[in-house]
Amino acid sequence: MAYSVVIGLEVHAQLSTNTKMFCGCKVEFGAEPNTLVCPVCLGMPGTLPMPNAKAVEYAIMMGLACDSRIDTKAMWTRKNYFYPDLPKGYQITQQGENALYDRPICTKGHLDIDLDDGTRKRIGLTRIHMEEDAGKLIHDLTVSDSLFDANRCGTPLIEIVSDPDLRTPREAYLYLEKLKQILEYLEICDANMERGNLRCDANVSLRKDEFAPFGNRVELKNMNSFHNIEKALESEIELQAMLLDRGETIPKQTKRWDVARGVTVATRTKEEAHDYRYFPEPDLVRINVDWKHIEEVKAALPELPEARRKRYVEEYGIPPYDAAVLTSDKPVSQFYERVCAVTKDKKAASNWVMGEVLRVVKERTISVWDLKFTPEQLGDLVNLIGDGTISGKIAKAVFEDMLADGKAPGQIVKDKNLVVINDSGAIEAYIRDVLEKNQDSVVAYKAGKVKLLGFFVGQVMKASGGKAGPDQVNQILKKHLEG
Ligand code: ADP
Ligand code: MG
Ligand code: ZN
Repeated sequence: MAYSVVIGLEVHAQLSTNTKMFCGCKVEFGAEPNTLVCPVCLGMPGTLPMPNAKAVEYAIMMGLACDSRIDTKAMWTRKNYFYPDLPKGYQITQQGENALYDRPICTKGHLDIDLDDGTRKRIGLTRIHMEEDAGKLIHDLTVSDSLFDANRCGTPLIEIVSDPDLRTPREAYLYLEKLKQILEYLEICDANMERGNLRCDANVSLRKDEFAPFGNRVELKNMNSFHNIEKALESEIELQAMLLDRGETIPKQTKRWDVARGVTVATRTKEEAHDYRYFPEPDLVRINVDWKHIEEVKAALPELPEARRKRYVEEYGIPPYDAAVLTSDKPVSQFYERVCAVTKDKKAASNWVMGEVLRVVKERTISVWDLKFTPEQLGDLVNLIGDGTISGKIAKAVFEDMLADGKAPGQIVKDKNLVVINDSGAIEAYIRDVLEKNQDSVVAYKAGKVKLLGFFVGQVMKASGGKAGPDQVNQILKKHLEG
């Protein structure tokens, strides 16, 4: 393409606190509409907001996880606008036009993404600020009306704003995945886009080359999956390139992604900051975080994906690729660690989790913790293969049984009599039988068609119901064929 792409993302993450940002109302998804409300979150005159300390702590955790600076004198501001989902007529946030009161809790962080070519790229985080959510309008329940649910009013959010450092839709996708991972590892957000716990606005513009000044940006809103964001960006980039080719200018605007038609659609011209008449929130004082508290939060941060990945390579000796797959999802990594607690063969454990376990989990769209068997049982299965009790092939069958009824692998092996046959007498009997039935092949083998060994092994394994020890089979077969 003849243009250089610039992308910056604004991600809203709903904090998984028990209660709202400025009142004691519960935060809960799917509750009866308009039941989780009070005069404060409805913005009744005369009420006063009271900040949720847990939410502030969560925001600081995210800031620290991304190496941000924490502002110990952060402020609250009021962003004024009218919309039917906002009974208060304003939103308490931490943005502002003026540096005197534009004091978000976190600034100047960064996050590293791993590109497909194996290189790493650092994406700057301009800021992470806190704010309260608006309510929800429901347009599709009745034909002629729009309904309003205030339950979401006042739900705590952080907005994570990236620098305009992303250069391709793919980079945007990788950035979002990384961000989601960190939020999940910190356990401060359920990070589910379909439920709206994670929302993303994507800004994109084109310019002549990497040294040219930035072009006008278009802001894409309302996308409900990372894949849609990637697609919407691709489509918008194509459109902007076409307009620029024609010598037109790109208007600053807000658009939404029409999934069905696969196009971006203009919704309104973009408002400027001064349209919101930001001013310092008169009902709240500065946040005033003290350094000791920040140090405490830092010390208590859970292990993050990157550190965990490194530890898996060093401690478990598994390849970096395995470590990346296993740590990409926190529950999966916790499952894997518990498999490892009962088996010495960390690589075999990794193969089972990355292979069979993730396959099943994906097919059924469930969590690893919904499986009928425990990670310890999977560890036992790995050990049964390791000590030669069962073959890898039999293990697959045992695994299927574990999936179906959660029985212990040792029990399944016993009940079904699946133990490997290592008795050479018994194996000899199978071999003699197979050779007798396949005289032609024996002749061919002796005439030089040594590739037939695999065929004989297969026949013996089949005759034994997969239970003959493969090493023994190979050995004894060779003795017979070559002797
Ligand atoms: P607003 O609230 O007006 O959207 P923000 O400062 O919250 O403004 O967000 C601006 C976002 O747009 C940031 O993520 C930033 O990186 C990105 N951005 C700014 N300029 C450009 C540009 N020319 N092209 C693409 N992205 C941009
Ligand atoms: Mg924006
Ligand atoms: Zn309330």
